[in-house]
Amino acid sequence: MPHIDNDVKLDFKDVLLRPKRSTLKSRSEVDLTRSFSFRNSKQMYTGIPIIAANMDTVGTFEMAQVLCKFSLFTAVHKHYSLEQWKEFASQNPDCLEHLAASSGTGSADFEQLEQILDTTPQAGNVVTGEMVEELILSGADIIKVGIGPGSVCTTRKKTGVGYPQLSAVMECADAAHGLKGHIISDGGCNCPGDVAKAFGAGADFVMLGGMLAGHSESGGELIKRDGKKYKLFYGMSSEMAMKKYAGGVAEYRASEGKTVEVPFKGDVEHTIRDILGGIRSTCTYVGAAKLKELSRRTTFIRVTQQVNPIFSDKS
Ligand code: 5GP
Repeated sequence: MPHIDNDVKLDFKDVLLRPKRSTLKSRSEVDLTRSFSFRNSKQMYTGIPIIAANMDTVGTFEMAQVLCKFSLFTAVHKHYSLEQWKEFASQNPDCLEHLAASSGTGSADFEQLEQILDTTPQAGNVVTGEMVEELILSGADIIKVGIGPGSVCTTRKKTGVGYPQLSAVMECADAAHGLKGHIISDGGCNCPGDVAKAFGAGADFVMLGGMLAGHSESGGELIKRDGKKYKLFYGMSSEMAMKKYAGGVAEYRASEGKTVEVPFKGDVEHTIRDILGGIRSTCTYVGAAKLKELSRRTTFIRVTQQVNPIFSDKS
């Protein structure tokens, strides 16, 4: 008989962070930089652990140029040619430490890791503690957590599969940290407060798609209609992406992403400042002088309402 898990699982929208006694006098006292030492590869990384998603509308070189100035990370999408990579690398040498290529880097270690991950059926994103442990013990340093929370993801609709993101992050972080591994919360952040909640829940890194879409530096066609500007944003498993890169949706599968028009938001720099300012503020409310301390200072309160709806619009 199928099993029903009766524990309540929560999304970002179901909680708020409880304010705590704080001696911090100014948001400028908060340090958002973290240094990581990875369990298996022994590599180190220092930066603000927010990642632009490896979608062709988000993980662009233009995005990376801005994000690296803030020490944020970009997972560059896999549709750039080797020539484009070489040109970017030669012109932006300072950016490279904050970049990940979505395709292989060619080093033997990476190939081996890829092979290991290839042989693990659910590799890609996971949402349960058991899978996190299995992947870390198989050689992975960082596990990406999230099935179905993405803004242009239709997996939950098409397949009925998913896991509320806040609970997924809390459970997976617990499993990963027990083995000295790390996790990325991938998808489902709508506002700076959600990014703060993901860190509070234990995410080491937070990956953003929709929040970084629609900017000058984002990919996707710019559309002008009735005096307004929009940018096209689509899931990497959407019909749009599959047509663009794979010649269409294969017969045996359904698209699991959609296409939307995002109102044009201007330069991404403003959005980044807004996100970082929000998280600094979160840290002062809960008394965390460093981002690293945020999860230790986090108590979530379950809520039935996030914001006052009286003048409600998208914000
Ligand atoms: P967002 O920040 O927009 O809520 O979520 C971004 C994440 O959505 C990406 O990092 C990726 O994991 C996921 N994603 C991107 N495109 C698709 C898609 O077409 N289908 C699904 N299921 N997930 C997608």
